[in-house]
Amino acid sequence: MNAPAKVTADHLRKQAILYVRQSTLHQVKENRESTALQYDLKRRAWELGWNDEQTMVIDEDLGHSGATATDRSGFQRLVAEVTLGRVGLVMGLSVSRLARNNADWHRLLDICALTGTLIVDEDGIYDPNHFNDRLILGLKGTMSEAELHMLRARLIGGLLNKARRGELWVRPLTGYVYDERQRFVFDSDAQIQWAVRVLFETFRRTGSAGQVVKHFSKHSILWPCRLFEGKRDGKVVYRKLQRGMVLNILHNPRYTGAFVYGRTRTRKGPDGKAHICSLARDNWQVFLPNAHPGYISWEEYEINQATLLQNGHSEGRDNPGAAREGNALLQGLVLCGRCGLRMTVRYRGRKELHQSNYVCARRGIETGGPMCQFVVGAGVDEAVGQAVVDTVTPAALDVALQVFEELRARRTDVDRLRRAQVERAREEAELAQRQYMLARPENRLVVDTLERQWNDCMAKLAQAEVEYARATKADGTLEPSSEVRERIAALTSDLPRVWKDPRTSARDRKRMLRLLIEDVTLARNEELIHVHIRWKGGATTSLELPRPRSSFELVRTPATVIEEIRALATEQKDNQIASTLNSRGYRSGTGKSFTGPRVNHLRFDYGIESYRQHLQRSGWLTLPEIARKIGVHLQTVRMYSKKGLLHAIRVNGRDRLFKTASAPLPHAQHSSNGQ
Ligand SMILES: [Zn+2]
Repeated sequence: MNAPAKVTADHLRKQAILYVRQSTLHQVKENRESTALQYDLKRRAWELGWNDEQTMVIDEDLGHSGATATDRSGFQRLVAEVTLGRVGLVMGLSVSRLARNNADWHRLLDICALTGTLIVDEDGIYDPNHFNDRLILGLKGTMSEAELHMLRARLIGGLLNKARRGELWVRPLTGYVYDERQRFVFDSDAQIQWAVRVLFETFRRTGSAGQVVKHFSKHSILWPCRLFEGKRDGKVVYRKLQRGMVLNILHNPRYTGAFVYGRTRTRKGPDGKAHICSLARDNWQVFLPNAHPGYISWEEYEINQATLLQNGHSEGRDNPGAAREGNALLQGLVLCGRCGLRMTVRYRGRKELHQSNYVCARRGIETGGPMCQFVVGAGVDEAVGQAVVDTVTPAALDVALQVFEELRARRTDVDRLRRAQVERAREEAELAQRQYMLARPENRLVVDTLERQWNDCMAKLAQAEVEYARATKADGTLEPSSEVRERIAALTSDLPRVWKDPRTSARDRKRMLRLLIEDVTLARNEELIHVHIRWKGGATTSLELPRPRSSFELVRTPATVIEEIRALATEQKDNQIASTLNSRGYRSGTGKSFTGPRVNHLRFDYGIESYRQHLQRSGWLTLPEIARKIGVHLQTVRMYSKKGLLHAIRVNGRDRLFKTASAPLPHAQHSSNGQ
């Protein structure tokens, strides 16, 4: 390769660019030497005839990984300069690494060929327009990419081999540590272990990540996290448990004692960015069950996954979801007897008002059509509750015992954790005290700091003690009195009492119900509600309930009042009826006193004739009617009525009805005279 022959005066008129690149910060630190080599190329340019002013250095990409060009502004600037034809020479150490992916590299080569730009590396000078040079440059690019691939394969292969033996170091999860022989074992800190167990137990009990968070926050239990980096390595910090953390833990198979690796796959998108997707269990790269002690069994893990999936779908509404607060006993269990979809709960007014109804509105909401079915909740809940009490007597003992056993165990756990928190605060306070005592008094600065730390610790201890006392008191005594225990024993022996005990929350009732009942189908017609209960295990019970009166019917005015109105309306106007009813002490269905308009409404609803209509039926006539009947002008009727020749009766304001008096009327002559 004859260098001077390739460099022409045209080349020398343009710039020479030195592109300096190291891919990672680590390489930047470690590889100063190769950076020096790259700057040596600058001397090469000078030898070839470019002076210093003509030589530009692009080193913006120092510290950037080179796998794609998208986020490497230096490389893009290089391409831009070359494209504009301003560059005669591109220099780089092992040039093919200018672009670490073949597509970028070939693009650069093409542009260099078009603009007649030369390329220089430590091996020589190339003109991309020459076939041989082009071939070598292309090969260099391919080699470089292959090298990258090998490097990655070696790296990942090493990881995989370690992972396959279950020896890969992975940041330990809360509840685990590496022991001195690098085995993954339970954290020796009892409080941390307990916190993990309480988390799993609470989820087992409630079936909802949100409830786990609530339980921890209600009992002021903080979540321990061990730090594994830096100066504070091994130290435990406590933070508030959050739903995302709970989900991570529940989804993590390592808590079953399994070692897993490669649960996700990273794909490179067209933008060069990595996209992570989760793999199905069969596609995990490494799965070693029973590799270390587990907090839960694999079976429980799978149940948890199913539960979480179900809870997640509950927003899609075609499955029960987790038991929630609220009075509707059958929430999540009711199926529509008409269309088979799951019915939802609709509360009327405020939730405390015990007004919950079951509605099948999903199709209606989706299609904008009418609601499929509406069933008043109260009667149904009561009937199903009664059916539970009546039907499940053999199972009652088990369920009740389970509930109370659970309650007791839960309390002991919680108390243990809380006490441990106080103990920890005390230890820290004692440590701070010792440090303060040991400090030399002449070193004021240190003494002051230590004293402040000691004070802080004491304050924290006091706070922890107060918190403990408060929480314990809120729970009542841990050891139930013999009387309480007897009552619990009595309660556990019969479900009916547990069920009806006002201290049993709506939520616990619902949870009991879910242990017993698969689903309840409701179908309503005009008179009856058909309730079909499908028990767990397949048995069924069918009930028929009278259709309860709707809320409209519940506020209906009593029938006696309607009869009164019917009687009074023959001789009184609406406002007179209202005051008569009020004076007799009657009230409307909503407990209000009567007014004229309200009586008017009621008459209309019940088809009762008004006073005026009564009069008309008994022969009284309106002004135009009587005028037509006796053949006189309207004005004449008024005059007759004033003179007493016609009976008139005032019905409403100026509205009057008339009737001919028995006396003969002078109208005959008058009218025959013509008008
Ligand atoms: Zn329906």
